[in-house]
Amino acid sequence: MGKVISISNQKGGVGKTTTAINLAASMGLAGKDILIVDTDPQCNSTSGLGVDRKNLVKTLYDVYTSKHKIEDVIISTPYDHLFLAPSSIDLLAVELEMVSRDRREWLLSDALKPLKDKYQYIFIDCPPSLGLITLNSLVAADSVIVPVQCEYYALEGLTMLMRTINLVKRSFNPTLSIEGILLTMFDARNSLSSAVAKEVKSHFGQKVYSTIIPRNVTLGESPGHGKPALYYDVRSKGAQTYLTLAREILGDIALQNKAAS
Ligand code: ATP
Ligand code: MG
Repeated sequence: MGKVISISNQKGGVGKTTTAINLAASMGLAGKDILIVDTDPQCNSTSGLGVDRKNLVKTLYDVYTSKHKIEDVIISTPYDHLFLAPSSIDLLAVELEMVSRDRREWLLSDALKPLKDKYQYIFIDCPPSLGLITLNSLVAADSVIVPVQCEYYALEGLTMLMRTINLVKRSFNPTLSIEGILLTMFDARNSLSSAVAKEVKSHFGQKVYSTIIPRNVTLGESPGHGKPALYYDVRSKGAQTYLTLAREILGDIALQNKAAS
């Protein structure tokens, strides 16, 4: 049974999309099919995988509006075992359109359910807000990865995100868990980065991944070429660190499965 992981933080520019693309591409190398669901109207995961949204006929918008099943929207990518449910700028309006719908919090969950046998992991790239799109993502998810940028105000807003996650657990999705807190854009030359990393670890303890994503030029450049870093420069520190993160997560989950059996 596949696992649905929401990559959420309502703060903008913290590395949600970079993590969705590069973690998914790294896991694809392990040989199991991986799906990225791009729920952000900015379409950064879609363009970062080299998909020209002008050529898309069906997108996630059609799923939220029940015009098409998600199976009809998913496209393959040139990357190993990596599939995409592309976004559309039309999603800007979808939250308003959802408001009057029945089961409006469950639209994505209902859509993804039949896919859990097909993909080992489904990563949902969220927009930088806590609106209905992110709520749908948290209701659909088994767990959440929270990227936290090693910059000023890193912890700002995390309390609100944790409160939202707890509210979703209470009202919709009791088994939702925090998969992990991911420190991103770490700059070893900057003492602020180390201070932020320390502060986040003191708040979240074991939930913080031991893999820390460095600030790295390749990670910033590769989306402009429509590629995960791994396919742009596999030797780059950025590509290698996301591979390490994939191993950390796969290892953890293998251990958890063992513990549960
Ligand atoms: P949004 O909230 O707008 O969706 P986001 O949380 O998805 O943003 P990203 O788009 O992943 O954040 O990253 C923000 C910017 O920083 C992008 O230009 C991205 O290429 C760049 N970036 C992300 N991670 C790194 C990194 N580790 N090193 C260098 N640049 C990075
Ligand atoms: Mg993004």
